[in-house]
Amino acid sequence: MSQEPPEKMMFQLTLRRRGISDLAVLRTMEEVPREAFVAPGDRGHAYRDSALGIACGQTISQPFVVAYMTEQLQLQKNHKVLEIGTGSGYQAAVLSRLCAHVLTIERYRTLADAARARLEKLGYYNIEVMLGDGFDVPAGAGDFDRIIVTAAMEQIPDNLLQRLQPGGILIAPVGPHHGTQTLVRVVRTESGFERKELVDVRFVPALRGIAREL
Ligand code: SAH
Repeated sequence: MSQEPPEKMMFQLTLRRRGISDLAVLRTMEEVPREAFVAPGDRGHAYRDSALGIACGQTISQPFVVAYMTEQLQLQKNHKVLEIGTGSGYQAAVLSRLCAHVLTIERYRTLADAARARLEKLGYYNIEVMLGDGFDVPAGAGDFDRIIVTAAMEQIPDNLLQRLQPGGILIAPVGPHHGTQTLVRVVRTESGFERKELVDVRFVPALRGIAREL
């Protein structure tokens, strides 16, 4: 018999029932301790399939959405991945187990510092947390095999698409800042970009510039 607490068993069942089938993704969702990424008062709810509030008025995404976006990225062990919107660092932790390196960018210093410390403490060593603006990724960071945006963009900026390697995949919630967005998956092909709309989601807005408040 498994010694797993019932809420973690339910967590896996919910992900499977909602259609997550990639075993590497399911295993990673099981391994990454979501309770270490939520606010202390929310630890008892960490394995519910819902978004939760974190500092700076932001949210840690719903586990199903984290798993779904990760699955859609079709990560390989050698991939270099960019995440825009570090938040708690949870999505970055999940990605990091399935690829070579994650650069994750956050516009709030408080969140970036907390995520960096948390990830280091938990032993996720292939993640770089950067304070910055995901609309303005430093050129020195190079190009990426995969890009994941975890804040709502009204449209996908062309300069972000240009940072994808050939064959690369970008996934982002696209739509109005307040309301429902659609997850969009863009594949960079030899000749251009192929775009596909996936499911409806709700994310906090992607805003320009480093936040002036902490
Ligand atoms: N992926 C996170 C949840 C993201 S919430 C997790 O796993 O916990 C969205 C985050 O995107 C917020 O923390 C917000 O501050 C950040 N964000 C919004 N616009 C941004 C931008 N232009 N650049 C970097 N981060 C941004």
